[in-house]
Amino acid sequence: MKRLTLFLMLLFAVPMIAQNVVAIRAGGVVDPSTGSTAKNQVILVENDKIKEIGPNVRIPNGATIVDLSSEWISPGLMDAHVHLTLTEVTGGNAPFESFYLKESSTYRGLRGLRNAQDLLRAGFTTVREVGNDGNYATEDVKRAIQAGMFDGPTILTAGKIIAPFGGQSTAIPPEQGPFWRYEYIDADTPEEVRKAVRQNIYYGVDVIKLVADNSPYHFSVAEIKAAVDEAHHGGRTVAVHVYGGEAADNVIEGGVDSLEHGFFLTDQQLEKMKQKGIFLVGTDTPRAQLDIEGTSGGIFPPPEVLAPKIVDRLRRAYRIGVKMAFGTDTVIEVPNKSRSDLMLDYLPVWREAGVPAPEILKSMTSNAAELMHVNQQRGRLAPGLAADIVAMPGNPLEDIEALRKINFVMKDGKIIRRP
Ligand SMILES: [Zn+2]
Repeated sequence: MKRLTLFLMLLFAVPMIAQNVVAIRAGGVVDPSTGSTAKNQVILVENDKIKEIGPNVRIPNGATIVDLSSEWISPGLMDAHVHLTLTEVTGGNAPFESFYLKESSTYRGLRGLRNAQDLLRAGFTTVREVGNDGNYATEDVKRAIQAGMFDGPTILTAGKIIAPFGGQSTAIPPEQGPFWRYEYIDADTPEEVRKAVRQNIYYGVDVIKLVADNSPYHFSVAEIKAAVDEAHHGGRTVAVHVYGGEAADNVIEGGVDSLEHGFFLTDQQLEKMKQKGIFLVGTDTPRAQLDIEGTSGGIFPPPEVLAPKIVDRLRRAYRIGVKMAFGTDTVIEVPNKSRSDLMLDYLPVWREAGVPAPEILKSMTSNAAELMHVNQQRGRLAPGLAADIVAMPGNPLEDIEALRKINFVMKDGKIIRRP
């Protein structure tokens, strides 16, 4: 009898002691979805999710307390356009194809893991990988992180890029064969586009990526619509690399989910994107990085012409009210800079275009989450959502550059770094 009583006491005592509960004392909390702030909050995290948030949250016994009372807290950052496994060779006469002719899929995956971990420590808790990943290397990076082998951000993958014949290569002699199929799927009719979408979904991708205008020919409206139809029925979104012109008209008409780059979009095209709720992921590259990348393939005007065009397009897109998600497309390496440093170097472009700090942070959190269809799980700080939390000494709604000083990162409830 006595034993049973003791047993029952222990049984009921256990839930009283908080297990896997973290209480963050927050000096200030920003909500990018509304642009509002709240001071002196407690964020209660249980396992991988936010349980409660507010000024008068009771902290249970046994909870781990993290004191960030002199910091500002934000939802984890998101980047909707990364190439985790890719470093583009710059300078000299290196052809565009060097990166996939010289590196195995395994090596690409290892680089992807390294970059994923760097991004997470800098505060990027969710990223959308948009292809060029060496025969689905990022699928394995994603799986290894999901299996708990490594810490890393939530990764959405695109697998092989679907493009008209030739991928993003031009003028490869026929004797060389279609070696670009290591990174791309050739698709030249609506039916071939459907087949390519199915192949990617089969291998595990979360988003379908098309390249629409990297060649003298481009996808028709019918081909774009085939991709959208097939992808949407498979529960995937469609992201399309396109700079402007008739190709962009077709992409917008086809009803995709996002245009990537879009450097030469007209006001009329931006208006139509707004009407249709299509996101712009502008990959608004800073001048310094354009200088390093060079004008690959002769597609672009020189950096001194292109850089102001990018700022102008971002300014117009913001003025017109197109939905925007932050995306960087950083694929270069610069001595003494991490990849995340290079990504945050896109922030001054947004400032130069006159986009206010709260709107920039929104594009990096709740807006990006909406585009990626993870907004029911991530992108805001609210009960029931994943505990993807970052903190920094300054208020990013006042100065977006505060993001460079992120010194606390929590991913799915696990503390990755702290001040
Ligand atoms: Zn890209």
